[in-house]
Amino acid sequence: MEYHPGGEDELMRAAGSDGTDLFDQVHRWVNYESMLKECLVGRMAVKSAVPKGMLPKSQPTNPLAKESPVSPSYDWFQTDSLVTIVIYTKQKDINLDSVIVDYQDDSFRAETIIKDYSYLIYIGLSHEIQEDFSVQVVENVGKIEIVLKKTENTSWTCLGHPLENHNLLIPKKDTGLYYRKCQLISKEDVTHDTKLFCLMLPPSTHLQVPIGQHVYLKLTITGTEIVKPYTPVSNSLLSEFKEPVLPNNKYIYFLIKIYPAGLFTPELDHLQIGDFVSVSSPEGNFKISQFQELEDLFLLAAGTGFTPMVKILNYALTNIPTLRKVKLMFFNKTEDDIIWRSQLEKLAFKDKRFDIEFVLSAPTSEWNGKQGHISPALLSEFLKRSLDKSKVLICICGPMPFTEQGIRLLHDLNFSKDEIHSFTT
Ligand code: FAD
Ligand code: NAD
Repeated sequence: MEYHPGGEDELMRAAGSDGTDLFDQVHRWVNYESMLKECLVGRMAVKSAVPKGMLPKSQPTNPLAKESPVSPSYDWFQTDSLVTIVIYTKQKDINLDSVIVDYQDDSFRAETIIKDYSYLIYIGLSHEIQEDFSVQVVENVGKIEIVLKKTENTSWTCLGHPLENHNLLIPKKDTGLYYRKCQLISKEDVTHDTKLFCLMLPPSTHLQVPIGQHVYLKLTITGTEIVKPYTPVSNSLLSEFKEPVLPNNKYIYFLIKIYPAGLFTPELDHLQIGDFVSVSSPEGNFKISQFQELEDLFLLAAGTGFTPMVKILNYALTNIPTLRKVKLMFFNKTEDDIIWRSQLEKLAFKDKRFDIEFVLSAPTSEWNGKQGHISPALLSEFLKRSLDKSKVLICICGPMPFTEQGIRLLHDLNFSKDEIHSFTT
C-alpha cells in the first residue's frame, strides 16, 4: 500500500472484492499477472478454517464507499525512454480542452479543469525530458495520459519533488493565472484598426482554448507587467480559407483592435514577427452544454465583441444537429469597422441557416442598412424564434454599456436568464 502511486484509498476501493474491473479501468497497460505472482502469499482455503465464534463482529467498512467529493489522483510508470503520467479524474466529461500541460524550467505542470475546480500535478522533475510530449484522454473513464520522452535512457527512482499545490483539487478561482511565452508568427490587417495576430504555443505546452473562453496576454511595458484579456478566434470563418502549416492546435489566433491612445495594444502592435508574448491559461464561464438541443442561436456583437462569436458560429454550424437558425446582429460605428464582412456575407450565402444583419451607429449617407444603437425595436424584430417554442440561446458581447443595455432589453422581451449568455470578465 505504501508504494501504490494512487494511494491507499484507491487500493481500498477494491478491498474484499474482485478488483479486476477497477484495475482495468486505470492500469489496463500493466501486466498484472507478473505483479500478482510477486504478491501471492498462498491460496485461500476452500473451507473456512476460522471457528464461527471468532469472526469479527462488524465488517470493516470501505472508506470510499461513502460518496465524498471526488478528488482525482495520479500515477506514473516508465520504460527505458518514456515516462507516462496518468491522471484519473473519475469524471466522464473530460476531453483534451480539460487539461493544460506545461514543461518550463525543469518543472512539469498539468492542470486539469473539473467543473469549477482545478487539479494540479506540479513537479520539479528529477531528470530532464524532451520538449515535446503527447497528451491523450480516454473520455469514457476520464483518464488522461501524458507521455514524456526522457532525454537519457536511465531509470527514474522518483518523478521529482512536489511544487506549490501539487496533487490538490482547489477552486479554479484560487489557482492564479499561469503563463507561457508564445511567439508571434504573423500579423495581418483586417480593418483599418483591427489585426489578426497568430501566436504559436511552445512545443512544451498543451493548451486548447475552449469555445467562449478568453486568455490574458502579458507584456512588460516600461518595466511594468501589463495584462489584458483577449478571446481567441479561428483563423477564418470559412475553414477552407487557409491550410495551417503546423497542427492547428499549436496556433492561437486573435482579432485585436489597436487603440492609438491605449496602454497595451500599441505595444502589441509594435512586436516584430518572432517576438514573444506571455499567454495565460483560459478562463470564462461559457459552457458547451448551453448548445444542447439548441434550435435558434442569436448573436449580438458590437465591435471586437464579435470575437467570442467566431468560434461559436463555427461550432454551432458544424456540431449542433438540432440547429435551425443562427442570426448575427453586428453593431459597428462605420462600414470600415466591420470585421470580416465579406467572410460573413459568404458564409450567409453558403449556409442558409445563417443570417447576418449589420447595424451602424455612425454611418455615412450612402449606408442604406440598419442604423443606431441597440434598441427594443431592433431586437424585437430580430429575435424571432423559428418555431413557437424553439429552444433559443442569445449571446451578447461588446462595450459594457452595450452589453448591460442589451441584457435589460432581452429581459424586457421575456427571455429568461438561461436563454442569455453575456461575455464579460
Ligand atoms: P486602454 O488603455 O484600455 O484604452 C482603450 C481606449 O479607451 C483607448 O482609446 C483609450 O484612449 C481609451 N481610454 C482609456 N482610458 C480612458 C478613460 N479614462 N477615459 C476615456 N477613454 C479612455 N479586445 C480585442 O481587440 N479583441 C479581443 O478578442 C478582446 N477580447 C476581450 C475579452 C474580454 C473578456 C474582455 C473583458 C475584453 C476583451 N477585449 C478584446 C478588450 C481588451 O481586453 C482591451 O480592453 C483592449 O484591447 C484595450 O486595451 P488597451 O490597453 O490598448 O487600451
Ligand atoms: P466600438 O467603440 O467600435 O463600438 C461598437 C458598437 O458598440 C457601436 O457602434 C455601438 O453600436 C455600440 N456601443 C458602443 N458604445 C455604446 C454605448 N455606450 N451604449 C450602447 N452601445 C454602444 O467598440 P470597440 O472599440 O470595438 O469595443 C469593443 C468592446 O468589446 C470593448 O470594450 C471590449 O472590452 C469588449 N469586448 C469584450 C469581450 C468579452 O468577452 N467580454 C470580448 C471582446 C471585446
